[in-house]
Amino acid sequence: MKVMKFGGTSVASAERIRHVADLITSTSEPKLVVLSAMAGTTNMLVEISRQLVARHRHEALMMLTKLKRKYEIETQALFPDPASYDRNWTIVNETFFFLEQICYVENFTLFDEKKILARGELLSTAMMLGHLADRGYKAVGLPALEYMRTDKNAEPDEDYIREHLRAIIDKAPKDTKLFITEGYICRNAFGDIDNLQRGGSDYTASLVGAALEVDEIQIWTDIDGMHNNDPRFVEATAPVRRLRFEEAAELAYFGAKILHPTCIKPAQAKSIPVRLLNTLAPEAPGTLISTDTDKDLIKAVAAKDELTMIRLRSSHQMTPWSFMSKVFGLFEHYRIPIDMVASAEVAVSLAVERGRLTPEFIAELEALGTLELEHNLTIVCVVGDMEWENVGFEAQILYALREVPVLMISYGGSDYNLSVLVDAEDKRKALLALNEHLFEPTIRQSKP
Ligand code: ADP
Ligand code: ASP
Ligand code: MG
Repeated sequence: MKVMKFGGTSVASAERIRHVADLITSTSEPKLVVLSAMAGTTNMLVEISRQLVARHRHEALMMLTKLKRKYEIETQALFPDPASYDRNWTIVNETFFFLEQICYVENFTLFDEKKILARGELLSTAMMLGHLADRGYKAVGLPALEYMRTDKNAEPDEDYIREHLRAIIDKAPKDTKLFITEGYICRNAFGDIDNLQRGGSDYTASLVGAALEVDEIQIWTDIDGMHNNDPRFVEATAPVRRLRFEEAAELAYFGAKILHPTCIKPAQAKSIPVRLLNTLAPEAPGTLISTDTDKDLIKAVAAKDELTMIRLRSSHQMTPWSFMSKVFGLFEHYRIPIDMVASAEVAVSLAVERGRLTPEFIAELEALGTLELEHNLTIVCVVGDMEWENVGFEAQILYALREVPVLMISYGGSDYNLSVLVDAEDKRKALLALNEHLFEPTIRQSKP
């Protein structure tokens, strides 16, 4: 079996849904298809929730009307047969009725917000199932809210997912070739509706792929695989054809939006290849992520925003070892991941996501010494197969960045990454400089 995940732009309209239906029914091998919400829907639902948090019911209802109108148009286009339209519009309309009702809840909570955010994937999946039924294709829906679950640490509960997913699949007719499920949405450890964070449909694909130990996980999106630089900031980018799991995981974690930050892990744990493919050009080779790679090459650059640098100088009473242990102990206590670290004899600098910092955590750090915070920073991460014995990679990267002020450098954490911390204002300059020096025009992916 294969998992095929289609992102928001791949199911953005009736026409796109038809195209995906063509792709998933073109061969008879068994498939499990994971769908995102139609492009723009989750953003709209986030915005509606924001208005409700701010008690702007009127604005929320206006946005909802706009969204409903879009779905009315797409439902009409997807189901031209009047009986089919009635059947499917009833389902879509029920969702909008639910959303309208929730706009009138007196004390809008985080639980309500999660219920709202889940509707996008529920809608796209229902529409795809309706369309496949119209084509006479027997597809079986696998309701994600019945098997996708996170544990008390908000991490996927892999045992629960495997058992429940397999149980639902076992109940389907034995000759079923096509299963369709919602990406992104799940329940938490208490059974409440939740999600796997923005972009989480990729994570769903990887989790179900690992749970079923499929042959391949395909992530279908709007670009021909992982590019060697962020195409939103750099024009001259090119696809990278092969990546090792570790390389793809670093790129995803450090901002390559094409993949959810943690979605490689479940596939890697089971050594299931992940292929990134383009819905708009299905014949294009895309990127294959596996245990194999092209050796001794710099592959790609990614950037992660909204970081803060914490620079802490130890107070004199503390020994260096107890200082370090206390600092890292605080990160454990507050469960804050560290994206980058550099140390001096009595000082340490760390880069963390700004959103993770709380006043309590900062106060505890201040008690350990002299604290400086620098906000609005970006990690620019260069990824490749860069074993330390291979001289020249570090020199090439730092030479490329010679005109960019750098706050921190991290190298040696793995064989696959050299990262620098720069001011957010210098991000584009850094990405362009790296592109020009590492990839363009003839030295693309060259050895040092
Ligand atoms: P989907 O809706 O299919 O999940 P996303 O918008 O989440 O699609 O991811 C695809 C987008 O990721 C691309 O359109 C591209 O703009 C962006 N992107 C950022 N970095 C990269 C990269 N290194 N390679 C390819 N795409 C990237
Ligand atoms: N619809 C969700 C989002 O926009 C999940 C996804 O597309 O992966 O974040
Ligand atoms: Mg995505």
